[in-house]
Amino acid sequence: MKFFLVFFLALVCLFGCSHSSHRRTSSWFEKNDKIKVLSTTAMIDDLAREIGGEYIDHLALIVGEVDPHSYELVKGDDEKITFAHIVIGNGLNLEHGASLRYQLKQHRHVVYLGEEIQKRVPQNILTVDEALDPHVWMDISLWAEGIDPIVAALSLEDPTHAEHYLRNGEVLRQKMLQAHCEIQQEMSEVPATKRYLVTSHDAFHYFTRAYLKEESTWEDRCIAPEGLAPEGQLSCQDIQRVVDHLCQHKIAVVFPESNVSRDALKKITSSCTHQVRICTSPLYGDAMGMPGSGADNYLGMIRHNAKVLREEWKK
Ligand SMILES: [Zn+2]
Repeated sequence: MKFFLVFFLALVCLFGCSHSSHRRTSSWFEKNDKIKVLSTTAMIDDLAREIGGEYIDHLALIVGEVDPHSYELVKGDDEKITFAHIVIGNGLNLEHGASLRYQLKQHRHVVYLGEEIQKRVPQNILTVDEALDPHVWMDISLWAEGIDPIVAALSLEDPTHAEHYLRNGEVLRQKMLQAHCEIQQEMSEVPATKRYLVTSHDAFHYFTRAYLKEESTWEDRCIAPEGLAPEGQLSCQDIQRVVDHLCQHKIAVVFPESNVSRDALKKITSSCTHQVRICTSPLYGDAMGMPGSGADNYLGMIRHNAKVLREEWKK
């Protein structure tokens, strides 16, 4: 009986998910007066949705637990990109799949949000081993710098509703800056001796700088076996470097990410001489949560991460 119930629920979920994704994509191809805004990631799409409101149709290209660093176009993606009035990418070398890069270059109106943010606040963009760190969305106050470029892009395509985009942008900015301050406050309540973040790949530097620092230092408070993109082969040195860090700071828990394999973290925890657990709730680094998870919107995703960390570090 239990088996049939699980099977039935799986079927409902499968049918429901594919149906809703199909509906979402077909409304994208509907001819109407709305501005079609295609974003490469869900984190960008969420900002576009808030700013554009009823005057845009919005769609994210890379959805679900997929790695945006290495994403290559799949069947139907070409048409989605071609149909867009505006494409918003992250840039800063996040999207380095060759087919996606090529297709973005062909589009007449592409905005790279990370690079727009870099123009505004170049001093706040991080580099890791001389490579730009593209994970700018992990600091809410920095991601809020992307509001004005989206307002400008929408207003250029649709000057009639420029006021509307500007107003929505302001409302969103206030909401984001408030969430930023709340998370800063919540994380500062966790003892500094606990605030050492170990994740699967280097997606959390901006988060660590924004929310985990002690006085002005944050650099040794985050580490990951995999680099800026979770696609390289790991060496024994990569593993040992993290194991040494765990021992040095007496770290008791490491955090998997929703869209990255846990193999490296398993190797690390089994190589430690002290007890280290792998947190059962994954963090969201490069992908948001599934619909209905509460982490299926940008602020929900960052709040989820902060909540998981707070609860784990309290144990
Ligand atoms: Zn990443």
